[in-house]
Amino acid sequence: MSLTSVFRPDVLAMHAYVVQDAAGYIKLDAMENPFTLSPALQAELGQRLGAVALNRYPGTRINDLHAALRAYAQVPADHGLVLGNGSDELISLLAVACAKPGAVTLAPLPGFVMYEAFTKQVGMRFVGVPLTADFELDGPTMLAAVHEHRPALTYIAYPNNPTANLWDDAVIEQIVNAVGDNVAAGHPGLVVIDEAYTPFASQSYLQRLSKHPHVLLMRTLSKFGLAGVRLGYMMGRKDLIEQVEKVRPPYNISVLNTEAALFALEHADVFAQQAEVIKSERERLQAALANMPGAKAYPSQANMILVRVNDSAAVFAALKARGILIKNVAGLHRLLANCIRLTVGLPAENDALIAALADILREPLNLPSA
Ligand SMILES: *Cc1c(COP(=O)(O)O)cnc(C)c1O
Repeated sequence: MSLTSVFRPDVLAMHAYVVQDAAGYIKLDAMENPFTLSPALQAELGQRLGAVALNRYPGTRINDLHAALRAYAQVPADHGLVLGNGSDELISLLAVACAKPGAVTLAPLPGFVMYEAFTKQVGMRFVGVPLTADFELDGPTMLAAVHEHRPALTYIAYPNNPTANLWDDAVIEQIVNAVGDNVAAGHPGLVVIDEAYTPFASQSYLQRLSKHPHVLLMRTLSKFGLAGVRLGYMMGRKDLIEQVEKVRPPYNISVLNTEAALFALEHADVFAQQAEVIKSERERLQAALANMPGAKAYPSQANMILVRVNDSAAVFAALKARGILIKNVAGLHRLLANCIRLTVGLPAENDALIAALADILREPLNLPSA
């Protein structure tokens, strides 16, 4: 018997998450905010972090972060709030907390890969429902899946990754209500609205949250501008958030994460200005893509654009040869055949991307007739 056979067979069959080496490239692959802190803010943050007691376990300073996030995100006063080491960790904790035998997670596909990954890690069953060909929710099939599988967790990313669109509100409401019907019939389930891209989106679920006790709203500071800090948060009815709180590792948010996040929220205006630039750059990229015969760009409410091309692997390689790193998402799902995902960068980076794509995408797109 080999020693590794101590691990679960499904773990042995997994692949670890690989981060592409981006050194020297224009990095447009991971929906990061391209702006860095100004030298003045860097110095100020350095002072703050230098003064933090690294020798102590995280203490009550986390309460200040809770308060700052409540104010920033306008969390309803009677709602609970739980913090994660990135929203990735919150997805993992929800799975841990809900993994009863036979429990199901439901999510549209293509979607954020972590819903499925963490679901399977805890032995829950994952049910993925394909989006329509133009990446809208397939309402009837989603509703049928809610009735058939009575999911404990239903994830709705608003906007979705990697498609970048905001799904039809009416269909989302139907899904929320269908899960609500399950709850009323004695089959409890939660809907998690994942708003990772709020800074760039025209709409949020926040105003509707109080109407639906079985809906949790998840956010992150990653796309806001702190991907390296790792801070996600989730709000919802107090007694539900309290259960997630029980499986949260006690010190999951380090003293450095806490202080850096507080600092960023004190300077939220700076990040809001950056989001404005990113949104206008997104529209500039869309306009440029619309003029390229070899590209079909999809509507975006995020800091990324999904684009269909003739040969996504070739476009990925050609951009890389020109020093630009993007994501070829074609392998994620059959609906994404020959799709690439472009993260909106700094104006000069987007100039370089547009020039390179205009050069690479001269051939008209031959979309399948099916
Ligand atoms: C990026 C992303 C997240 C995860 O972000 P964290 O960095 O773990 O906070 C969650 N959901 C979606 C849809 C995302 O795109």
